[in-house]
Amino acid sequence: MAKKLRIDEDECIGCESCVELCPSAFEMNADGDKAIVINEDCTDDCVEEAIDTCPVSCIVFEG
Ligand code: SF4
Repeated sequence: MAKKLRIDEDECIGCESCVELCPSAFEMNADGDKAIVINEDCTDDCVEEAIDTCPVSCIVFEG
């Protein structure tokens, strides 16, 4: 089974970096204060870029 992309929403500070870098995998929630995963199977290169850029390291692949 492939690993699934997840965001620890307790840790997310809503900086929007991941959404800007990789809108195919992430978007902001309805309140605009946390990012959410919209494609947990996304394998685009930008996912790695977003993981590396997240200031609180709360984006992970798990499974
Ligand atoms: Fe949240 Fe990290 Fe995305 Fe910033 S880069 S919005 S802290 S998940």
